[in-house]
Amino acid sequence: MSTFYFSTSCSIIVEKGGFAMQTTDKLMEYIQDSPSPYHAAAAAAARLEAAGFTRLEESAPWALSSGQCCYTTRNQSSLIAFRLPGGTPEGWRMTAAHSDSPTFYVKNDALEGDKRYVRLAVEGYGGMNCASWLDRPLTVAGRAVVRTPAGVEGRLVYLDRDLLTIPSLAIHQQRDVNRGHDYNAQKDMQPLYALGGGPSLTALLAEELGVDEGDILATDLVLCPRQAPVRIGPEGEFFQAPRIDDLGCAYATLEGFLSAKGTERFGQLYCLFDNEEVGSGTRQGAMSSFLPDVLTRIGEALGLSAQARRQALAGSLLLSADNGHAVHPNFPEKADPANKVYPNGGVVIKYSANQKYTTTGLTAGLFQAICQKAGVPVQVFANRADEPGGSTLGNLLGHQVSIPMVDIGMAQLAMHSAVETAGSRDPEYMARACAAFFQAEFTQTADGVYQF
Ligand code: ZN
Repeated sequence: MSTFYFSTSCSIIVEKGGFAMQTTDKLMEYIQDSPSPYHAAAAAAARLEAAGFTRLEESAPWALSSGQCCYTTRNQSSLIAFRLPGGTPEGWRMTAAHSDSPTFYVKNDALEGDKRYVRLAVEGYGGMNCASWLDRPLTVAGRAVVRTPAGVEGRLVYLDRDLLTIPSLAIHQQRDVNRGHDYNAQKDMQPLYALGGGPSLTALLAEELGVDEGDILATDLVLCPRQAPVRIGPEGEFFQAPRIDDLGCAYATLEGFLSAKGTERFGQLYCLFDNEEVGSGTRQGAMSSFLPDVLTRIGEALGLSAQARRQALAGSLLLSADNGHAVHPNFPEKADPANKVYPNGGVVIKYSANQKYTTTGLTAGLFQAICQKAGVPVQVFANRADEPGGSTLGNLLGHQVSIPMVDIGMAQLAMHSAVETAGSRDPEYMARACAAFFQAEFTQTADGVYQF
């Protein structure tokens, strides 16, 4: 049996007694709603608005007061939402995840082919596993920039049909394919669109958007696999979907944010950044001025002194949420034998000696204390000493806003494949950990000392 309640004025309705497997169902819905980073930001915005959050434009003045719940977007693909405290903020509880995933970026409607075949022209975006993109139905999603009577406007577009495929070369024509293949994006990865004639991609976009073809001035489109998220395993213990990295964290941190209660002393902030997969160095990426700009505007609107703003930053904690590698069932030797993480094992805390992850003993200890209190299991990930490992958005964000951080994530398999696999209980653990974190009333009383 489930009962429903409102936890605060700007919260979604959540099922009492926990998020259970429902969180995974809602995550799978979010992934379906988010075939591109633009859609991921819009789908987060829709959920924030349903919970009573007010949209702010970066290009307009902000008038803010205590207790307000607002969000803003940049480039239509990054989003920051915040819930202001009842009183003067003594610190911030923040999460950051990313809206993009490795894919192929469609060059502006440049169709190419021989006399019969028409192909779309694409280039790689991020570090994708090429083989996983072959021989499956694909389509395009993203943004079309449309001429309007008043100017130009970026409009989200998704061609919700099986439209494209990247056919592999038959094994008879490459006998050694099962011994490894060196993929060349220009040669191997151009998707097949049509067999001569037929409407252009721009014509399909125009039809979808209900505008004249000539009014589509430019596009930002990516390929997306058509596979719907599914549960697998005898008890549905896994789920499989495109873009689990990092929409899994993008959604679970949002659910935690929306289900948390506001507090008197601490502000809460949810960040979703585009372009992590290509280094975060864009205007809307984690290395941009987006987060500092939002914090500065909040501080100014609330009339906080420069000193009070610095003090609040020192009293803050940010969870950089991006998935980690679960031990692979067929390649257990790839994981560090002392720090193995598994699907459904709980929130992963990621360490790296070379500081590619922001976790310190101090921030990890603080986060673990919060998780323990919330009854959420945690597991620890570290790279093998002979593997350089990956990086993520936290340490790049730290170049702009130097606050204490922890790198966390969900344990998943097949990271950066067209379709990835993760544990069905972990989204719930992540959401519960984040809800507890957002409401946690810890104070940094001295460097290295936190009090609850
Ligand atoms: Zn990621």
